[in-house]
Amino acid sequence: MEQFDPTLLDTLIDTLQASAQLIEIIDASGKIIIPGLINTHTHIGMSLFRTLGDDMPQRLQKYIFPLEKHFVTPELVYQASRHSLTEMISGGTTTIADMYYFQHMTARAVAESGIRGVLAQALSSAPAPDAKTFAEGTARLKALTAEYSGHPGIIPAAGPHAPYSLTAAELRETVRLAQKLDIPIQSHLAEMPFEEELIVRQTGLRPIPYYDSLGILSRRATMAHCIFANAEDRALLRERETGIAHNPSANSKSGKGIAPAYEFYRDGARIGLGTDGPMSGNRMDIVSQLNITAKMQKVRLGDPTVMKPAEILAMATIGGAEALHLEQHIGSLEKGKQADMVIISTESLSMFPIYDPYAAIVYCADSNDIESVLAAGKFVMKKRELKTLDREEIRASCTRITARIAEGFTPAE
Ligand SMILES: [Zn+2]
Repeated sequence: MEQFDPTLLDTLIDTLQASAQLIEIIDASGKIIIPGLINTHTHIGMSLFRTLGDDMPQRLQKYIFPLEKHFVTPELVYQASRHSLTEMISGGTTTIADMYYFQHMTARAVAESGIRGVLAQALSSAPAPDAKTFAEGTARLKALTAEYSGHPGIIPAAGPHAPYSLTAAELRETVRLAQKLDIPIQSHLAEMPFEEELIVRQTGLRPIPYYDSLGILSRRATMAHCIFANAEDRALLRERETGIAHNPSANSKSGKGIAPAYEFYRDGARIGLGTDGPMSGNRMDIVSQLNITAKMQKVRLGDPTVMKPAEILAMATIGGAEALHLEQHIGSLEKGKQADMVIISTESLSMFPIYDPYAAIVYCADSNDIESVLAAGKFVMKKRELKTLDREEIRASCTRITARIAEGFTPAE
């Protein structure tokens, strides 16, 4: 956020006009411009289930599994993804990392939206809405990779769900396949005490070293959560240059714990922010994660000086790019990178006065303060108007599906 010398502007405009490159001048005076925000972990195909069974015991068994069994279709994933994207773009997100079923439909929605996505086909041993077996899941992954090979905005990825959801042989096969297809890997890791107990009992290793023993931790991988990560676990993730997706809103709502995000950041790990799915963290914009990321680390460490606003904003931008191993292309406003940019308005009540723009963004802004968003140099939202997605049409399409869910769903006993 350096001060720009306005006298240079006329010279710049003259030069661009002379070379016929000038397309449009955006007047952002008095506003704040930041790199596009990066959501390193989400499940956007789940947004039409949001708030169902919130805070209920055994929610996974009583709500999520039955909902997925009865209602998850390609059409639902497509419409839910489109709805999520309207919310994400409205909140300044220009890149997402997603894992879910029927991922080709999410890919279609992301491609239509104009933002970019690292999109993982979910893989597990157990039958899933889009695959009865692990082999069917990998077949879907191969098809997704073939369909989006060379696409400028879509990076297909492998999404083994978690250490407890696949056998060691299936996890090794996933690594081989990702290497062969040259695609990233996303997974949930070190998220729950039961996971640690189970994996230690079965293998003698904690979840993070267990994943390392299978060859998963690498520059290819981004691991969501890593709440239960001791000093050795953290060092391992850092040494392997594995990305970490920190999801404080979802982790706190589920009562799982607070990940050592400050230590990851301080020690130079590749850590970015994520919302997790809309059933877990409910909100899908990254702006709402900034505040809680800072405050939860301060509470955990009993220290108001840790996780300063500039560091939080770094996690949401270049940190996210590093977590997805895309820092050569996105995450900062630099020559040679993609023009993913967000213009933040400073007109709302909470955005006045601004002595420290970083503190204003992290502690005072919400997604309504996001005024315009550009992805790859193109407006996807301009002065709060979405340019690639039709909010009303999407809401109407989604309402037809949510009406069926509201009428037809009863939680399992
Ligand atoms: Zn997740």
